[in-house]
Amino acid sequence: MRILVVEDEPKAGDYLRKGLTESGFVVDLARTGTDGLQLATADAYDLIVLDVMLPGMDGWQVVQELRKTQETPVLFLTARDDVQDRIKGLELGADDYLVKPFAFAELVARIRTLLRRGPIRESERLEIADMEIDVLKRRVTRGGERIDLTPKEFALLHLLAKRQGEVLSRSLIASQVWDMNFDSDTNVVDVAVRRLRAKVDEAYPRKLIHTLRGMGYVLEARE
Ligand code: CA
Repeated sequence: MRILVVEDEPKAGDYLRKGLTESGFVVDLARTGTDGLQLATADAYDLIVLDVMLPGMDGWQVVQELRKTQETPVLFLTARDDVQDRIKGLELGADDYLVKPFAFAELVARIRTLLRRGPIRESERLEIADMEIDVLKRRVTRGGERIDLTPKEFALLHLLAKRQGEVLSRSLIASQVWDMNFDSDTNVVDVAVRRLRAKVDEAYPRKLIHTLRGMGYVLEARE
């Protein structure tokens, strides 16, 4: 498996290259966004580990350019633990995130998960039963009727829809949508799901968001 690491900090880049090589990957390292993009488009990588804060062309620009031609999975490394960054990155086509500093084992685990999943391009349009989600325009409709959501509600719905049919735990939702990593605050998730349901499910006979007691939530069109 070939991995491209794009990281401008010399120490961090060397550390990533060494660690990933020792984990059995074939690793190329680019120190700038421009070099990274060039390598990524010229060569076939199974995955790209991409730092967001890069001089010149940043990680966002790289992924935006890359997605015009390539569907290689991209794992973003962000220095800031910022939800807006996360949403922006996902919209541009990143597949996963890791906030610095991270445990190396966590990085390898995420890489293996992404490689197993294969290249899944972040879809710009999602359809579940009569629901349509236009990710770029952040527009949601059911049966052609427009539904207005707050940014957080949209992020939550987008996450559920992207992974439709998959049961998402409260802590996973909390970490993806609110950037919270503690189980104690996952009540926030229940409240948000309730609000989201009131908007996207209540008025419609076919319910799309389902609760799995003790496990979490799943969005799917059940017969
Ligand atoms: Ca950097």
